[in-house]
Amino acid sequence: MYQRILVANRGEIALRIIRACKELGVETVAIFSEGDRGARYLDLADEAYCVGPAKASDSYLKIANVISAAEVGNVQAIHPGYGFLAENAHFNEICRSCKIDFIGPSPEAMARLGDKNAARELARETNVPVVPGSDGIISTEEEALRFAHDVGFPVLIKAVAGGGGRGMRVASNDLALKSALQQARAEAEAAFGNGDVYLEKYIEHPRHVEVQVLADNHGNVVHLWERDCSVQRRHQKLIEESPSTSISPETRSAMCDAARRLIQTANYTNAATVEFIVDKTGNFYFIEVNARIQVEHPVTEMVTGIDLIKSQIRVAAGERLPWSQTDIPQRGAAIECRINAENPRRNFQPSPGKIEQLIAPGGFGVRFDSHAHSGYVVPPYYDSMIGKLIVHQATRADAIAAMQRALSELHVAGIETTVPIHQEILSHSAFVEGRIDTTFVERTLLAE
Ligand code: ADP
Ligand code: ADP
Ligand code: MG
Repeated sequence: MYQRILVANRGEIALRIIRACKELGVETVAIFSEGDRGARYLDLADEAYCVGPAKASDSYLKIANVISAAEVGNVQAIHPGYGFLAENAHFNEICRSCKIDFIGPSPEAMARLGDKNAARELARETNVPVVPGSDGIISTEEEALRFAHDVGFPVLIKAVAGGGGRGMRVASNDLALKSALQQARAEAEAAFGNGDVYLEKYIEHPRHVEVQVLADNHGNVVHLWERDCSVQRRHQKLIEESPSTSISPETRSAMCDAARRLIQTANYTNAATVEFIVDKTGNFYFIEVNARIQVEHPVTEMVTGIDLIKSQIRVAAGERLPWSQTDIPQRGAAIECRINAENPRRNFQPSPGKIEQLIAPGGFGVRFDSHAHSGYVVPPYYDSMIGKLIVHQATRADAIAAMQRALSELHVAGIETTVPIHQEILSHSAFVEGRIDTTFVERTLLAE
């Protein structure tokens, strides 16, 4: 096992990783930007180094600064968390050349699956069903129109390097497609430094179901069942749960098996999530692989009883996965609500600032993963998520009741949060009955 790890992230995921390290008896080196200086979770690390100004591109994304902190901190490995450098194959390679383990896949496996188009290709070769899409990058309007006329409108324009729902545009006719193409390219160039886009058929009333996979360096690959992330706003997840209510046992086993096969074929190691879209009739289609830990990993931890962060660290250190597929249960039902510093009544406008008082919920089967506390100042520079509220109960109905109870206890004064929208969703009959798709929130709760 490692003696010392650098945590190349901030906020709740940095704290989550520091906690896992403590339990493993591993020392931690944290990094922070000027915007996070003095944050209390940094005190839990053994050391903390400033890596630059508040702006992420000058600090958390500045490879030279992160590597310097790792050298000064004398670590053997880096955990990248999610976002920032987590899916940056170049950073991954630099870690390797500096003889620091990157807690994640090899740079090669990351490149194979991180590029959405390359991953689609591999999925096709592995006989994993893929959403009908353009064969590769679309560079002209004519190509885009030809594809749309072949598969039929609506179509979805996606950035090859996309993430977090950004750089995506739906188009329903020729005119809309032409302008959306330009917009998506510009947005992708600005957000990811890569303006390449491709097209997919837009699956109507889709459900988002994804499979957690873990693979060690000795050829063992297991899946840890699915998460349903259909409660979204603007293609960003708000609520996640396991098991999914939208798939049959047969679909579940076919999907989980497809995910495992894909990860195995790619010679991928460590944690990955294989994302699928499920259509109205229950067909599932591969959309992408997230070559990192995901925000919603706790939902899987609750139903399987497996600590995914510790597993990532152990696997990176060369340990074998201690289970075979049949040892991994999917027990009870877990739900997660992302608590963001945003005002749902004002179009989810960010609401940074000082949290005057924070009272976290507790009780049976309730988990609150958050770096925030009374007096914490939410900086305006980063993702607005301030915590994740997770519940685990014997049944989905019990989980919904527990989440409602926990949300009503969660008290955040001084800033606006997404708590009210979660309460609305959890009490809506469509959610309670499991009859939702990714358009539910916008269609039902946010329509003018
Ligand atoms: P998850 O399923 O893990 O929630 P998301 O796509 O929502 O995946 O991304 C998780 C976090 O990573 C979010 O904070 C998001 O803003 C960030 N993120 C995802 N992809 C990128 C990217 N390519 N560049 C920068 N940040 C990203
Ligand atoms: P990101 O990298 O931003 O996470 P994804 O490819 O995972 O991009 O897509 C994000 C979300 O967009 C999905 O969860 C789903 O809601 C929607 N989506 C993606 N592909 C399709 C599709 N072909 N048809 C309908 N919705 C889609
Ligand atoms: Mg995705």
